[in-house]
Amino acid sequence: MRLKVVAGNWKMNKTYGEALMLATEVAYDASKVHHQRLLTILAPPFPFLSAVSRSIEGTEGMAVAAQNCHQEEAGAFTGEVSVPMIISAGARFVIIGHSERRMIFNESNELLLQKTKSAINHGLKPIFCVGETKAQRDSGKHFETIKEQLDETIFHLNEFSFLEIIIAYEPVWAIGTGVNASAAQAQEMHAFIRQTISGKFNQKLGDSVSIIYGGSVSPKNAKEIFSCKDVDGGLIGGAALNTEDFSNIRKAMISCLE
Ligand code: PEP
Repeated sequence: MRLKVVAGNWKMNKTYGEALMLATEVAYDASKVHHQRLLTILAPPFPFLSAVSRSIEGTEGMAVAAQNCHQEEAGAFTGEVSVPMIISAGARFVIIGHSERRMIFNESNELLLQKTKSAINHGLKPIFCVGETKAQRDSGKHFETIKEQLDETIFHLNEFSFLEIIIAYEPVWAIGTGVNASAAQAQEMHAFIRQTISGKFNQKLGDSVSIIYGGSVSPKNAKEIFSCKDVDGGLIGGAALNTEDFSNIRKAMISCLE
């Protein structure tokens, strides 16, 4: 049975005190409302990784993710953060290939593969993002785009490394816009990704990888999206900054498991 995941990507939001308060509130909520198949992940900004990790320590079913990593282990890369640093701060996951990294910071598929390999080699699990732009969807190229992103990145991994990955399908047009993919659009793409993985590796792997959806998930639409057969949870941006909204999104996931 696949792991279900609700992950909050805080992006470049919150100060130290605010981050600690949010993490503490989410951990309290998760200690009251939980399910053994659900993993709740918080992805705070780098400076708060340690403090957030400590504040969720001992809460079952919770983990911390970094939002990015550098591909090298150490060295003269002023301002960068390596995978061993992230692990030493208490994180178990790292988001790689978010569309904001791809588009604003020009991260190529080649670079994303290097980052992914570095993470896996050190035991940090990637939440690997793929997604098409509005223009790509409007021109009917969404499946082709996702296939290409997979082909040029995580399809270069071997089967054992691939097992470490969570995939996040995040259509760029849905991120931070308030326009989510419909449940049917999400299901269709998640099924496509799963079939593509089965074709590339084998069906067992395709069936076992968790594929989560991201893009304007809210307490209102979460249940409909999460109840799709091939959707294993969500990567949440805006709604993860508010304890109540995030809690209701977690509850929506749990209600699909009962
Ligand atoms: C995201 O940034 O990964 C995201 C899905 O954002 P939002 O939920 O705000 O659309």
